[in-house]
Amino acid sequence: MGAVTHTAPAPSPAELAAAVPGLAEYLRPATLLNPYAAQPVPGASGIGGPALWAVGAPWPHCTARHPEDEYLIPRSAPVPPTVPTALITLAHLRAEDAPHLPWPEGTDLLQVLWCPNDHDDIQGERFYYGPAVELHWHRAADLAPATPPPPRCSQEDYYLPQPCALRPEQVLDLPDRDELQEELAYAVREFTARQGIEYQRDHGRADGWKLGGWPSWHSTDLVPIDCGRCGERMNHLLTVESGGDPGLCVGRHGELHVFVCPVDVTHPVGLDLQ
Ligand SMILES: [Zn+2]
Ligand SMILES: [Zn+2]
Repeated sequence: MGAVTHTAPAPSPAELAAAVPGLAEYLRPATLLNPYAAQPVPGASGIGGPALWAVGAPWPHCTARHPEDEYLIPRSAPVPPTVPTALITLAHLRAEDAPHLPWPEGTDLLQVLWCPNDHDDIQGERFYYGPAVELHWHRAADLAPATPPPPRCSQEDYYLPQPCALRPEQVLDLPDRDELQEELAYAVREFTARQGIEYQRDHGRADGWKLGGWPSWHSTDLVPIDCGRCGERMNHLLTVESGGDPGLCVGRHGELHVFVCPVDVTHPVGLDLQ
């Protein structure tokens, strides 16, 4: 007899979690966004597309220092000023498409805004070089179409999303092996080897644009992301993927992960590039 060939479909994350004691507590709900180039339907979840904002409220701007600003500001300036730039809409996400997110009471629309420039000083000691991200949790009924000022953008169109509609898909997600305790990781490896499957490849985390679930650590190994305001370990909220629709490029054509504080969703987000 030759090598065992595996013809049965690989077990789903839920089946795998049921088969390996201790793994079930790592199952997390996630929404795969499956973006495709199209104008988002007004009122539906989408990437890019027309802006919404509270009537009469000022559109948010980024006031951080941008490394590229140094080319715009005279070197003779005594204190290098920052150059505020309007944020842009990365995504509008409706609660019905991701009911597992930590929606504050009375909110049903999450706006992900970002500054489409690189930043190198928003993550304290940790290395980060990419867009600044803000989360705004709204009641959709409070928002109206808005016309924000155009952003100042030095990154060509790396960080300017083409409008996309979404095909949200609810899944259960398991983490990368790095997140599992050693004994559990061993048990998983034993089980999947017997089944002729590979945990990382066949299970674990779903890839692509995703809300909730677990982040990938494929390029750095696990980096704990703690809240800069209160110190709590943060949860993965959003994966932004390079390439395909909506045509963004983050990191070295990699993934940007946005993390949210479990104590207070208004604490500044955590960011990680893979
Ligand atoms: Zn900025
Ligand atoms: Zn916090």
